[in-house]
Amino acid sequence: MALELFNTLSGKIEPLFASDGRALRFYCCGPTVYDYGHIGNFRTFLHVDALRRTARLNGLGLHHVMNITDVDDKIIRNAAAAGQPIGEYCAKYERAFFEDMDALGIERPEQIARATENIDGMVSLIERLAAQDIAYKAEDGSWYFRIARFPGYGKLSKKDLHGMEDGARVDLDEYEKDAARDFALWKAAKPGEASWETPLGPGRPGWHIECSAMAMKYLGESFDLHAGGEDLMFPHHENEIAQSEAASHKPFARHWFHVRFLLVEGKKMSKSEGNFFTLRDLLLKGYRASAIRFLLLSVPYRHQLNFTFDGLTESTNAVDRLRTFNDRIRTGNWPDAAPADATLTNLIRKGDTDFTAALSNDLNTAEARAAIFDVLRAVNTAADHSRLTRFDAEETLALLNKFDSIFAVLEDRDAELTRTALAWAESEGRLDEADPSLLTTLSFSDADIDALVAERTLAKTQRNFARADAIRNELLEKGILLEDSKDGVRWKRK
Ligand code: AMP
Ligand code: ZN
Repeated sequence: MALELFNTLSGKIEPLFASDGRALRFYCCGPTVYDYGHIGNFRTFLHVDALRRTARLNGLGLHHVMNITDVDDKIIRNAAAAGQPIGEYCAKYERAFFEDMDALGIERPEQIARATENIDGMVSLIERLAAQDIAYKAEDGSWYFRIARFPGYGKLSKKDLHGMEDGARVDLDEYEKDAARDFALWKAAKPGEASWETPLGPGRPGWHIECSAMAMKYLGESFDLHAGGEDLMFPHHENEIAQSEAASHKPFARHWFHVRFLLVEGKKMSKSEGNFFTLRDLLLKGYRASAIRFLLLSVPYRHQLNFTFDGLTESTNAVDRLRTFNDRIRTGNWPDAAPADATLTNLIRKGDTDFTAALSNDLNTAEARAAIFDVLRAVNTAADHSRLTRFDAEETLALLNKFDSIFAVLEDRDAELTRTALAWAESEGRLDEADPSLLTTLSFSDADIDALVAERTLAKTQRNFARADAIRNELLEKGILLEDSKDGVRWKRK
C-alpha cells in the first residue's frame, strides 16, 4: 500500500511520491538556535523522522534539507546579553541541538543549511522580486513583500484576508498571530546588530526569505514536501509560498506536512507555567531518552499530544516490555519443529500487514504500535506454553526489525545518554538539577554490574546464598534489578 499523507494545502489525504521517480525532495524548517530545544520542538522533528523512515520503508530515496536559523531578533538579543558574537552564541546551541537529535534517535537530514551561509541566495531572490516590483524598499532601507501582488496569499492557512490593511507592514520575527501584512524580506542594519553589505543595502535577512532561498537552492523551484510545526503554517509558510511562487511562477512545495502542538499536563507549555521541558531537563529527572522518543511518537502527528509524567512512565514500561520480548525471542532456543498449525504464523503476518498499513495511512503511529503489541502478547503466550517454533520466532524477529526501523527504541543506549547528560550538567554547573538517585546508579558502570552478577552466580553454585543475597541487595540499592530466568540472569537499571 502506497504511503498516503494529509496535505495541508489541498486539505486531503494524498499519495506521497517522489516527482523525479527517485528521491523524495523535502524541506523541514529547522531550529532557531538561541536556546536548548524543548520537547515540543522534538515532537515535530520526531514525526519528520518517522516520515523519513516510513518513506524509506516504502522504497523512496530521501533528499531532506533542514535549515538552521542562526540570525534573528531573539538570537541578536540573547547574544548581546551574553556579550558574544552571534556566531559563537549559536554554535553552542546548534551543537546541543544535534546532540539532542542523536540522543532521540532522529536521523540527520541529507543537507543542513545555515542561514548566515546563504545570504547571497536570499539577496538574489529579493532582487528577482524587486525586478517585478513585488519587493519594495521602505524609507528606513528595509525591503518588504507586497502581498497584494500575490493573489494566492492565504491558500495554505485558508485565511480569509478581507479587511487586510493595504500596505501595512510588519518587520518583527515574533508575529502578531493573525496579522496579514506586507512582511520584511530584508531588514536595514541597526547599530550594534549583525549585518551584511549587499546590493540591497546593509542589513540582514528576514526569517521567511531564508527558507524560500535555501529550499529552492537545494531542492529546485518545485519540490515534493515541506514540513514544520503547526504554528509555522501562518505566516511563515504562507510567506514562503508567496515569495517563492511570485519569483519563480512555479508551484513551490506540492505537499505540506504540519505537526500539531504538544501540551504538557493539559496546558500550553510555557516557562511561566513551570511546565516547560527541554530534553535535558527530563534526562536529569531520570527519564530515559528511549521512553521520551516512544511517547512523543506514539500519538499520531495530527492529534494533540498531552505530555504527562504518567504517560512517560507508561512509555518507559512499554519500551522495557519490547526490549525484554526482543531479547527473549532472540536468545531463546526455539525448536525447529514445524508449527502445529498456521494460527500463530498468520497472526504475526497480520501484525506485519497492520503495522505497514497503519503507517501508510497518514502515519498512524498509534495503530502501528498497537499492531506490534498484539504480536508480542500472542508470541509470548505461545512461548510460555512451549508452542513457539524457530520458524515463528524468526518471523517475529523480522517484524521487530521492521518496527525498529521506524520507532528505533530496541537498542539500549539509555544509561550512556543519561551519563552524557550528567556530564553536561556538571560542565554547566547544573548538577543540582539532577535527581540524586541518578548519581549513585550511574557511578556504577555496566562492567561493574556484570562482574557482580557473575560473582553472585558463582556464589549460588557454591551454595553461598548469604553472599548471593548480599550482592542482589547491593545492586538493588544502586537501582539495579536482577531477573533470574531459565536462560540466566538479566539485569536492568530501574
Ligand atoms: P523554533 O526553534 O521555535 O523555530 O521551532 C522549531 C520547530 O518546532 C518548528 O517546526 C516549530 O513549529 C516546532 N514547535 C515549536 N513548539 C512546538 C510545540 N509545542 N509542539 C510541537 N512543535 C513545536
Ligand atoms: Zn522555515
